Amino acid sequence: MPASVTRAAVVEGRRILVRGTVQGVGFRPWIYRLAVEEGLSGRVRNDARGVTIEAFGSPEALDALVRRLGQEAPPAALIREVLEVLIPAEPLPGFTIVPSEGDGARRVSIPPDLATCPQCLREVQDPADRRHLYPFTNCTHCGPRFTIARDVPYDRPATTMAGFAMCPACRREYEDPLDRRFHAQPVACPDCGPRVRLLDPGGGPAVGDGAIGAAARALVEGRIVAVKGLGGYHLACDATSPVAVRLLRERKKRDEKPFAVMVSTLDGARAVADLDPAEERLLASVERPILLVRQRHGSGLAPEVAPGNPLVGLILAYTPLHHLLLQAAGRPLVMTSGNLSEEPMAAKDEEALERLSGIADLFLAHDREIENRCDDSVARVIAGRPTVFRRSRGYVPRAVPLRRPVRRPVLACGAHLKNTFCLAAGDEAWLGPHVGDLDNLEATRAFEEQVEHLQRFLGIRPEVIAHDLHPDYASTRYALARPEPVKVGVQHHHAHVASAMGEHGLEGPVLGLAWDGTGYGTDGTAWGGELLLVREGAFERLATLRPLRLAGSDEAIRQVWRIALAALDDAFDGAPPLERLQLFDSVPARDVAVVRRMAARGLHSPLAHGAGRYFDAIGALGLARPRATYEGQVALEWNLAADDAEQGAYPFHLTEERGLVQADLRPLVRAAVEDLVAGVGRHRVSARFHEGMADAASALVRRAAAARGPMPVVLTGGCFQNARLAEGVRRRLQGDFDVRLHGEVPPGDGGIALGQALVADVVAG
Ligand code: ZN
Ligand code: ZN
Ligand code: FE
Repeated sequence: MPASVTRAAVVEGRRILVRGTVQGVGFRPWIYRLAVEEGLSGRVRNDARGVTIEAFGSPEALDALVRRLGQEAPPAALIREVLEVLIPAEPLPGFTIVPSEGDGARRVSIPPDLATCPQCLREVQDPADRRHLYPFTNCTHCGPRFTIARDVPYDRPATTMAGFAMCPACRREYEDPLDRRFHAQPVACPDCGPRVRLLDPGGGPAVGDGAIGAAARALVEGRIVAVKGLGGYHLACDATSPVAVRLLRERKKRDEKPFAVMVSTLDGARAVADLDPAEERLLASVERPILLVRQRHGSGLAPEVAPGNPLVGLILAYTPLHHLLLQAAGRPLVMTSGNLSEEPMAAKDEEALERLSGIADLFLAHDREIENRCDDSVARVIAGRPTVFRRSRGYVPRAVPLRRPVRRPVLACGAHLKNTFCLAAGDEAWLGPHVGDLDNLEATRAFEEQVEHLQRFLGIRPEVIAHDLHPDYASTRYALARPEPVKVGVQHHHAHVASAMGEHGLEGPVLGLAWDGTGYGTDGTAWGGELLLVREGAFERLATLRPLRLAGSDEAIRQVWRIALAALDDAFDGAPPLERLQLFDSVPARDVAVVRRMAARGLHSPLAHGAGRYFDAIGALGLARPRATYEGQVALEWNLAADDAEQGAYPFHLTEERGLVQADLRPLVRAAVEDLVAGVGRHRVSARFHEGMADAASALVRRAAAARGPMPVVLTGGCFQNARLAEGVRRRLQGDFDVRLHGEVPPGDGGIALGQALVADVVAG
């Protein structure tokens, strides 16, 4: 009999069901340790929905176990629910971990990568510890997971750690259920694990010893170092040096798009940014996304890090290698994806040397291979809650739980830009890692490779293939070429709304406000200012925005002055006061004439309903910026220009034609022009524009609800990455409506695949 049983007068039995993210995060060994500490006997096992504990002992010890469940869970665990039932006491000799079996367990067996935990970090910094300064230190609470997995089940021989034979000390830790490293698959130490090395761009050794110190010195001297991380290579440079950051921009051919900055501690983060508690929590979370936060005055960061942008993408170190490098460099470092412009991040050593040798002066590499490319995730706190813009490292391959199981396994191929795909089976869906823009061969190949990997890891053979309606998306072409016979095309904004519904477990009907740049409509035109009524597999288009004519189509999205001209010509009946608007000082009259001729003839000049186009148009006018150097730049800068205190709003009006309501934004355009001509500052113009757009959005929703009765409202599409717009619309509607914003599933095109999968499941039947 266990010790506790003899001590206590009463022996009780309890079955404790723990629901949430509790598999593959070191949960069972942790329960084992708790049970042993509390003197309980019994067992713990994974089940289809979480973990089941059957524990026997005194009521006090059982209460203590349940209390500690809530208070001390491993960092990567996410407990949603704990249910307890009394069961008959069993005389067991001790506590055991029941090995997992069956399909349910297989599907969740590969966890996401986890940021270094405080205990491992302490060991790395303790001169007396055998892992002092060891850059690959990890345990069951932290370390690489998905990025090193080659196959399932997730066991060391099926990872890129297979080639490293554990030394006796590591093996002891690995086999001891009471040790923090019990069954930590990537466990390693300086005697038996991977080693770091510094290479020159030719792949030869740059130094014999002290690779991290030498890399840090090079960074401090202003050089660029490629650093091998968890999911791929980063390019690093001194974030406080304008010269170093400019050099990186030049070599990477990246004009103005902000770079992410890595710091090693929360204090370091507070020194460069103004953080609220929700931001601090997300920044320090085990997922460690790049978090968009307000840069602090006098942050010390080079202005070239995020030119003209009050936000900075901040990330906390998430591997011991990062911590050691940052400590040695003693300053924040730029850490941007190791690629040229929009290619996928380099992950294999040869690939990195080949593609980055023209950019990096040195390579801080190591011999633990990256099996699955996985870019950093990107997030922002909106309305006090985390909103993930790019869901990748740290989140993938965590499942999104579904309210209702899919009928057959589905593969959804996603959009064209910021692509991620989605696999769904049973009552779970898995979004793949961020693949990026499917504009080149590298990206398309990475996409196909990732689809294959995830299918294999999850043991899913899709029977239904979902895709966007756009015939020219690489993801659509891929879907149509797949061998499976059942293909379902899903309208872009329908998928956006369904994705938000999926995340929130909403069945519909809902009113979905899907505002983005562009998406292929069922009438062949570009949609993007849509209000849809969505029920499971079907939608009805209730309202949209008055369209603008995009002269030269995609070219207009780069040359945003063309969109401004379209909005002006529309609002002023072809006679806008161009000569009084600063934007047109830098646009030759000849170009204006050419674009007007194109538009008049309808030559390559489609009508576009996208809300994002109004942000481009008025942003171009307000910022006097004729061109965007990256997608969404003008809209983003226009958003960030808004004065927080200004509450005025530009007007609009609603029209209705054959059952489709349209928000006519010509009054808004005219009012903005009037203000600009009168010399009203752009911060106030931007604020009034944002308030006007939020007014229009809520008016569309209220009008639809008045005719149909109340129902939940979801806000989705890339425009809702704009915190001012999202918070403004939510404030106007909450109280009268159940308003849902995105959380872990991105509002932009990176989240669309989830919606495609859910719609396709219903349509395919
Ligand atoms: Zn750890
Ligand atoms: Zn070892
Ligand atoms: Fe979209």
